[in-house]
Amino acid sequence: MSGDNNSPSGRNHCAYFHPNPSMAKPFSFNLLPLFFHCSLLLPSSATSPIQDDESHIISRFQQYLQINTSQPSPDYQKSTQFLLSQSLSLSLESQVLEFVERKPLVLLKWPGSDPSLPSILLNSHTDVVPSEHSKWTHPPFGSHIDEKGNIFARGSQDMKCVGMQYLEAVRKLKVSGFRPKRSLYMSFVPDEEIGGVHGARKFASSDFFKNMNVGIVLDEGLASPNENYRLFYGERTPWMIVIKSTGAPGHGAKLYDNSAMENLFLSIESIGRFRASQFDLVKSGLKAEGEVISVNMAFLKAGTPSPTGFVMNLQPSEAEAGFIPNTTNG
Ligand SMILES: [Zn+2]
Repeated sequence: MSGDNNSPSGRNHCAYFHPNPSMAKPFSFNLLPLFFHCSLLLPSSATSPIQDDESHIISRFQQYLQINTSQPSPDYQKSTQFLLSQSLSLSLESQVLEFVERKPLVLLKWPGSDPSLPSILLNSHTDVVPSEHSKWTHPPFGSHIDEKGNIFARGSQDMKCVGMQYLEAVRKLKVSGFRPKRSLYMSFVPDEEIGGVHGARKFASSDFFKNMNVGIVLDEGLASPNENYRLFYGERTPWMIVIKSTGAPGHGAKLYDNSAMENLFLSIESIGRFRASQFDLVKSGLKAEGEVISVNMAFLKAGTPSPTGFVMNLQPSEAEAGFIPNTTNG
């Protein structure tokens, strides 16, 4: 998921259940998207050893957040090293898969007592969306924690908190002496924020994935503003569409038909009307957010910028707009 939201992420702000588990995943695993995350989030007590443990949990989370994995130049080397060190401390089996060079996918395994059973896969992505540093109250990779326990960091919600919750849940289960019947995998995939082509897509279509015999995948959803973890099921298909229009270039003052901008705006207005019709269904309460087709414009590109800050006196011959529609399946 994207957006330059500078809201803090406290330790309670990291829930992730959503009707759209594959919301930002054009190439989701397409397996049964179901959700018992709650069972993995073990209750904590108020005893002092646990309190101490909690400070370590937060500290590990901060370490992960301090690694700058923002697109378009994520530091996957550092995130991989960090995840492997976590794996080592948990005595898990680990592998780094590079379906594409310098796009490491970290795969951890906790072998189950009955390997014949379908396995569980907990997925999260390691990359994060870019940040406009000047608009942050604290540096996006400083992982500042305030007196209320709020953590300020890019990726604190989307979705390093989820990856860390998987690891911390496993840590607690291991301490408790639990041993899973089914094998449990944790995948930390690259490039989700730019479509997952070199990450989840390659992984999901690999023999390696097939041999894992995955029965269920848990993935990201939405952050919760309170203590409740919402459970949803559903499957969505995101698309990424670029509409490019062309037209005759001309002087800025001239009125004529079929300019590139005019042509592009026909599409933008049409999509805008469709978006409004879908959104109205949600606003009126007739449909849930996950039951309609969402579509948002993600970028606009046209014209020649003027170095002086004034508008160039020219109507361009090409114009582009990028959209992210998200459709329901079935
Ligand atoms: Zn995400």
